[in-house]
Amino acid sequence: MSELKFWNTLTRAKEEFQPIDKSNVRMYVCGPTVYDYAHIGNARPLIVFDVLYRLLRHVYGADHVTYVRNITDVDDKINARALRDYPNLPLNEAIAKVTEKTAERFHKDAAALGCLPPTHEPRATAHIDGMVRMIQTLIDKGNAYVTAGREGREVLFSVGSMPDYGKLSNRKLEDQQAGARVAVEDHKRNAADFVLWKESASDEPGWDGTFTENGETVTIHGRPGWHIECSVMSEHHLGETFDIHGGGLDLIFPHHENEIAQSCCAHGNDRMANLWMHNGFLQVEGRKMSKSEGNFVTIADLLETEKFGGRKWPGEVLRLAMLMTHYREPIDFSVKRLEEAASKLHDMHSACYESPLQTLPGSIIDALSNDLNFSQVLVRLFELLSEITNSGNGNQKVQAAGRLRAALEFLGLYYEGNSTDLFGFVVKDYPSDTEINALIAERLAFIATKNWAEADRIRDELLAQGIQLKDGKDPETGERVTTWEVKR
Ligand code: AMP
Ligand code: ZN
Repeated sequence: MSELKFWNTLTRAKEEFQPIDKSNVRMYVCGPTVYDYAHIGNARPLIVFDVLYRLLRHVYGADHVTYVRNITDVDDKINARALRDYPNLPLNEAIAKVTEKTAERFHKDAAALGCLPPTHEPRATAHIDGMVRMIQTLIDKGNAYVTAGREGREVLFSVGSMPDYGKLSNRKLEDQQAGARVAVEDHKRNAADFVLWKESASDEPGWDGTFTENGETVTIHGRPGWHIECSVMSEHHLGETFDIHGGGLDLIFPHHENEIAQSCCAHGNDRMANLWMHNGFLQVEGRKMSKSEGNFVTIADLLETEKFGGRKWPGEVLRLAMLMTHYREPIDFSVKRLEEAASKLHDMHSACYESPLQTLPGSIIDALSNDLNFSQVLVRLFELLSEITNSGNGNQKVQAAGRLRAALEFLGLYYEGNSTDLFGFVVKDYPSDTEINALIAERLAFIATKNWAEADRIRDELLAQGIQLKDGKDPETGERVTTWEVKR
């Protein structure tokens, strides 16, 4: 078994990975807030942690890994979207519509990107009771307090009550206070205190949370803060301490720091998860992605529209484009990168499509075992490719093709679609309309003289350049007419 080593944000070192229980390796990754379609930046943790999940399943056995990725279906952004999109529905119904539609699209995107479904996909709204219980525990232990905020009552986590708050992001509380941009609001004991529960207005979604502090009981019709959701859902499925916690770099602070604070204080331990892994950020065409910059790209846009680079991109191309950069490095996502990925995938696809499967090369696992070293994986894939190209037509070629196929299947990159979808990316110079029409006329002339071989040759040559001919009859004259289209 390869030794697994990963970079740990918590210890700032590359460490050997030792699961707490080899028969049940446990990983939690923060999932989407379902108010809008996922953008291509959101695809990065999806893909990166899917590769890790596949690696863990390979090493420990598919039944010995539990992967939890939540869905955040309570959030003020969701409320705002529900009001905007369904102004005539009662808010709760409108919210259900927004979250259902968005979660459904998210599942489609994840599947198209070759991601295996996680073992559990808990929704925040199904864990409200657990959140109220954990908040009460935090109050009982002196880590949380009820206070009157600007928009109603709140229960806040008291960062000052936790001596080593800030361990993950390496921020000291004193520094944060000194540099705080917001003045200490007077209902907070510390400017960094964060919301566990906040009161809802009568037209906002809410649940009755009953809390007792110093013998006094209050019921606050309200909703949970974002961080408490992950503390409760991860405990529910994975226990108080688990192996891996993942997400994008932007989640280190405050989200993951605050998850640690809640979980460790509630459970009275010093580890929520042993290994904290974070993917680097993605920008698009050299700039931070944003709606106002006009470079905001959703996964659905890439898969199903021609908004980016003038064509649709298969999920496998998006996946490879993402994996061509190491997961901790920043990525500049661009049309050029997609074209490069499509061309690489096309070459590999042509070399091994439908070859009889062979065993997965161990070198792929070795490369991933070293902090998901995907550039090493690519080197190995291209070695297999040149083995196929350079080894005549014998058994060696068949074997190498079967190994390449096994590697691509394992990585979620084996492309089952129509190969011309990939081919089209490579052949950018289609023949001109005049050339095509001249060839069609030439072919019709061959057909008229029953020279089928030459007629077929022209048809096949055009097809190889991505042009598909269609024969039909003119409805009035009954004469043969040939039309054409670019094959996708
Ligand atoms: P959000 O819905 O913003 O909470 O993001 C969901 C996941 O996507 C989190 O793990 C984020 O860290 C990650 N993420 C968001 N934007 C980007 C980006 N531009 N590049 C990489 N990861 C991102
Ligand atoms: Zn989370």
